[in-house]
Amino acid sequence: PVLRVALMGLGSYANRVAEAMQSCKRAKITGVISGTPSKITDWQKKYNIPAKNCYNYENFDAIKDNPDIDAVYIITPNSLHHPQCLRVAAAGKHVICEKPMAINAKQGKEMVEACEKAGVKLLIGYRMHFEANTLEVVRLRKAGEFGKIKFFQGLSGFKIGDPTQWRLNRELAGGGAMMDIGIYAINGSRYMIGEEPIWVTAQETKTDPVKFKVGVDETITFQLGFPSGATASCLSTYAVSYLDKFFLVGEGGFAEMQPSTGYGPIKSWTHKGRLDLPHVTHQTTQMEEMAAIILDGKQPIIPVDGKEGWKDMVIIDAIFAAVKSGKKVEIKY
Ligand code: NAD
Repeated sequence: PVLRVALMGLGSYANRVAEAMQSCKRAKITGVISGTPSKITDWQKKYNIPAKNCYNYENFDAIKDNPDIDAVYIITPNSLHHPQCLRVAAAGKHVICEKPMAINAKQGKEMVEACEKAGVKLLIGYRMHFEANTLEVVRLRKAGEFGKIKFFQGLSGFKIGDPTQWRLNRELAGGGAMMDIGIYAINGSRYMIGEEPIWVTAQETKTDPVKFKVGVDETITFQLGFPSGATASCLSTYAVSYLDKFFLVGEGGFAEMQPSTGYGPIKSWTHKGRLDLPHVTHQTTQMEEMAAIILDGKQPIIPVDGKEGWKDMVIIDAIFAAVKSGKKVEIKY
């Protein structure tokens, strides 16, 4: 069988996902949800979507009676993910939700519970969890290639443009760079080290308080501590270009990836030499694998379920608390 997906929010990332899905064998776009009628018409033509599978934000609860749609992929601004996920779950459809899954851990937990209650799957759009170089580094770490892991460095950032975009609006974004790009360093530290962090310290700097208003972080540096004694040092920022690097080191060796989470190709090497596994469009692999998770119950090597997304939200809450207090904050799951 094929996973029949409706895309919600037809913005720039949805367009990228839709293009990538044209190469999928097991995932297919069968519907759209948008507030803009002209976009619906364009997408209908481009992806051959019948009018009966097109919805807006007022009427999409009716998707529950549509047998042509198995899952809804939510690709809207961050603060909308939570209410939209609850409505999709109530309609009995599987949810694929973009990162960050919500704007805090409380919302994330409610989303996990709503999907459990409705008997639908909740998957978060963590495309790197299916990327070949990432999986190879994780495999090598599990095989003991780097020895006992001691340290991870995650540097994630880009220089943000248009000051009027939703990413710089606290109501819609739930924060600033951390919610958008810093989450890659958080998530990466967890799958690279292979543990869950138990404490955090964090520092914020803001050089442009006009562009980055109260509650919208420009730059945060943070440090995470793990049960084994390994630590991570990370940078999340909207202030510089080309910042996309992971570095993992243990007693016996290292792995480095740069770029590490961009759309690719990902470049990677270890103390033994280059890896550079072949590039496949991330969203193509992601949607093929998500189809297998939903349809066949396949277990991914790095989880992408709602609980995985929720852990990142717990850590983000703790980072914001550490920035505010200036103290070391214990992370409780
Ligand atoms: P975008 O602004 O290009 O698209 C957002 C879409 O949501 C637009 O079509 C907009 O019309 C629609 N929308 C619906 N209700 C809205 C409202 N009330 N206010 C504003 N817009 C509204 O943004 P994007 O870059 O496509 O990001 C969307 C989501 O995808 C975000 O959560 C982002 O973090 C995520 N994303 C993930 C990746 C990834 O690599 N996994 C990459 C980019 C974006």
